[in-house]
Amino acid sequence: MSSELVVVTGGSRGIGAAIAIELARGGYRIAIGCRHPEEAADVVSAILQEGSEAIAMPLDVTSEDGIQRFLADAQSHFGALHALVNNAGITGPLGAFAELETVWMRRVVEVNLTGTMLCAQAALRCFGAAGAKGRSIVNISSIAAQTGSPGEYVHYAASKAAVEAFTLGLAREVAALGIRVNAVAPGTVNTGIHALAGDPSRPARVATRVPMGRVGEPQEIASAVGWLLSDAASYCTGTVLRVSGGL
Ligand code: NDP
Repeated sequence: MSSELVVVTGGSRGIGAAIAIELARGGYRIAIGCRHPEEAADVVSAILQEGSEAIAMPLDVTSEDGIQRFLADAQSHFGALHALVNNAGITGPLGAFAELETVWMRRVVEVNLTGTMLCAQAALRCFGAAGAKGRSIVNISSIAAQTGSPGEYVHYAASKAAVEAFTLGLAREVAALGIRVNAVAPGTVNTGIHALAGDPSRPARVATRVPMGRVGEPQEIASAVGWLLSDAASYCTGTVLRVSGGL
């Protein structure tokens, strides 16, 4: 059992909440960062009930200063950073790319790609200060990076494809320091992100195209993240693990 600090961005709900609880079960101490940390109250209390420790604090992954403050506060609570899970992400509205408002194009890239890179860079600096060996980053991508999601959200798919390229490059850059960098690419998962995109029935529709005949549950993504962070994955770096029911 490890009692080291893992930061989970976007851990207040959906996949991030499941990741935070899964990692807490593994003994990690969890700092959740999101824009509305009060919405993470149930996740924090679930973790406390598991006998581990957690805190939820405000974080906008697009704010460089905010990320520094968040990591400093998290480490003052729970000690040196052991790992980062870059989970925070948005899709923007579904629809044809020609109709997409450019504000969403910019926002999705800013949160999904720039936010992931800013958090990873800040984490690497924390690792450098504390002794890098054994530290790890997991980025949450999407199978949209492979499919391109035509007619739905190609801007989102592009942001996630860039996250995968970033994962591969950074993994190779820091491998000699003993830091591992991997990604999990979920297929469609049953969370509120689809309602936010204006299409709450999307999971039911997609399920008919999934070889396993159903969409994923957040816990099924969390298990993959837990494995990638664990010593069982000690020779895994630069890996993109697809968890998609065969889609
Ligand atoms: P949800 O919408 O359920 O949760 C998103 C989380 O991200 C929330 O905690 C939200 O909190 C946080 N967040 C959003 N913007 C920011 C920001 N700027 N800074 C910090 N936190 C932010 O999404 P899911 O759980 O479905 O998705 C999680 C990840 O999985 C995303 O990266 C998504 O792209 C990816 N994914 C999801 C799939 C799915 O089908 N659900 C499929 C493939 C990938 P708050 O609003 O308070 O900031």
